[in-house]
Amino acid sequence: MIIAIDGPAGSGKSTVAKLVARRLGFLYIDTGAMYRSLTLKAMQDKLNLNDEKVLIDMAKNTKIELNPKAAAIRTPEVTNNISYIANVPGVRSEMVKWQRAFGYKSKKGAVLEGRDIGTVVFPDAERKFYLDASVTERARRRFKELKEKGMKINLGQIEEDIRIRDKKDKTRPVGALKKAKDAVLIDTTELTIEQAVEKVLSYIKY
Ligand code: C5P
Repeated sequence: MIIAIDGPAGSGKSTVAKLVARRLGFLYIDTGAMYRSLTLKAMQDKLNLNDEKVLIDMAKNTKIELNPKAAAIRTPEVTNNISYIANVPGVRSEMVKWQRAFGYKSKKGAVLEGRDIGTVVFPDAERKFYLDASVTERARRRFKELKEKGMKINLGQIEEDIRIRDKKDKTRPVGALKKAKDAVLIDTTELTIEQAVEKVLSYIKY
């Protein structure tokens, strides 16, 4: 069984997807981490982020492994550069291949979270969810998370960054963030993590 969870930054989808996967004994696949890893690699190798051909070559020659502890991919520098990578259709098609392979590898099932899982990666997923929340609430959550990590940050700036990232994610020509027609919409603004997890599980018979 493939479960697709899409939504914008701060909607709670990562935490919810992880917990749902744990509850079901399914594989958890964070597809944002793949775009983050490629971005970090391109930065470390000092590639020209405007040269699509170079980026596609890199994507084709990169082996992706799932490693839950990779923290270096979560820095603001990486986040700010992701769109160079995620906007390139030839890079996306390489990532989609990995995502499908990981999804099919799991015997019992997999929970994949990202932006285009229900629309592009697994349009036939058995269950699809689109998690959303107000921009203010999403910024507040991100603020708390980064503050706990000891980062010096400003709530207004985070809200602005989230708005910019939403716009980039929703308007990219390929793989844009969009609710699949058959996805269940869950607004998590007023929900705790546990409530959101229960809500998702309530749609999954197992
Ligand atoms: O989920 P996360 O915030 O880590 O994703 C980082 C970025 O990677 C997103 O803002 C988006 O630009 C990109 N992404 C994507 N397609 C996905 C997952 C993430 O383009 N399936």
